[in-house]
Amino acid sequence: MQRVAVLGATGSIGASALDVLTRHPDRLRASVLAAGSQVDALLALCRTYRPAHAVIADEALYVRLRDGLQEAGLPTQAHAGMPALDTLAGSDACDTVVAAIVGAAGLSSTLAAARAGKRLLLANKESLVLAGELLMAAAREGGATIIPIDSEHNAIFQCLAGCNDTATLSRITLTASGGPFRGRSRDELAQVTPAQAVAHPKWSMGPKISVDSATLMNKGLEVIEAHHLFGVPSERIRVLVHPQSLVHSIVDFIDGSSLAQLGLPDMRTALAVGLGWPQRIESGVGALDLLSEGGRLEFEAPDLDAFPSLALAFRALEAGGTAPAVLNAANETAVSAFLQGRIGFLSIPDIVTATLNTVPMQPADSLDTLLAADVRARALASALIDSPASAHKLART
Ligand code: NDP
Ligand code: MG
Repeated sequence: MQRVAVLGATGSIGASALDVLTRHPDRLRASVLAAGSQVDALLALCRTYRPAHAVIADEALYVRLRDGLQEAGLPTQAHAGMPALDTLAGSDACDTVVAAIVGAAGLSSTLAAARAGKRLLLANKESLVLAGELLMAAAREGGATIIPIDSEHNAIFQCLAGCNDTATLSRITLTASGGPFRGRSRDELAQVTPAQAVAHPKWSMGPKISVDSATLMNKGLEVIEAHHLFGVPSERIRVLVHPQSLVHSIVDFIDGSSLAQLGLPDMRTALAVGLGWPQRIESGVGALDLLSEGGRLEFEAPDLDAFPSLALAFRALEAGGTAPAVLNAANETAVSAFLQGRIGFLSIPDIVTATLNTVPMQPADSLDTLLAADVRARALASALIDSPASAHKLART
């Protein structure tokens, strides 16, 4: 029996992971469920899955979780706070960790699972962007197996079939749906609303990644993610917009072969790969029928004028050191402000550019250095949110 900790259980990836688990009661069991602050949703999941442990990150909600579990007569032990989450992620309460917390908040539990040598189903791409070298080193030293859950990286993982000889790999092509605003000019993007930005045409996802998909920052974060996961330099990573979202990525090898993974856009496939690997297990996702999907696979270059965030991520990757951490922190701060209606859509790349231009870069020699850069970038980005004109000006220096 594989005991699985689902961190971010109340989110979109968490729901997909639990759906796959439910299909395999003979081999998979949810032993730890964790959420940020939605304690009632977590309690509802505990009633269904009866995990050994439940964790709520917001410590103020501990009593509600504990009492709710007691009232429901569940054997589940209640915990609260990030340190408890980290301890459980690295403990023998689980064999596998689904890292599906959104944002940099997922870093410490992901690192704990890597250090403890877990099978790590990594959806939380921000932890790789923020601390990619450290996370990969922790996984190597701890003996963890990282299986990427992001659909593009899961596709590449499948194409490589466990062979990590990157010398034979000449290029990675990450595909992008183009998001809800594909084809719009920069001027047309000025007035778009949060509701329009989160209405993704192909994937159903949480709000933060949906906005990242609309700006193409999601693809930029994925370029950095691919660099760390597969050891490929930025010049051998390319992005192509593929509106059908059926080809999830392509790997070119030195012998002229190109391998791609195809499938319907449903994260349960990637999660089933992660949970079952090296075996294939059922995910609940139907087979792909290219004819009924319209019979066409189209590809186009991304529009970097309308969607500058993608180029910003390449810039941060090439600068190295703390630059990706700064990029990620500024982006999280700006996206949150956009979702709250405090800034416009075009201010997101302005704030990220201005923050990258202003926070001095340092070598990423320790976790403390990276976390300090993250804090500094969030403080500057927050100040720029209250002063969009300064953000616009600083972005152009
Ligand atoms: P959601 O917003 O749907 O869910 C986020 C989850 O994280 C929730 O369970 C939330 O708990 C939890 N959470 C938030 N803050 C904290 C915190 N401080 N401590 C502990 N838990 C916290 O996000 P998604 O499921 O869409 O995305 C999760 C991750 O997976 C992201 O990194 C994203 O980039 C990545 N990903 C997602 C894909 C998708 O299809 N959704 C595809 C590829 C990657 P609560 O509900 O209590 O707030
Ligand atoms: Mg993706």
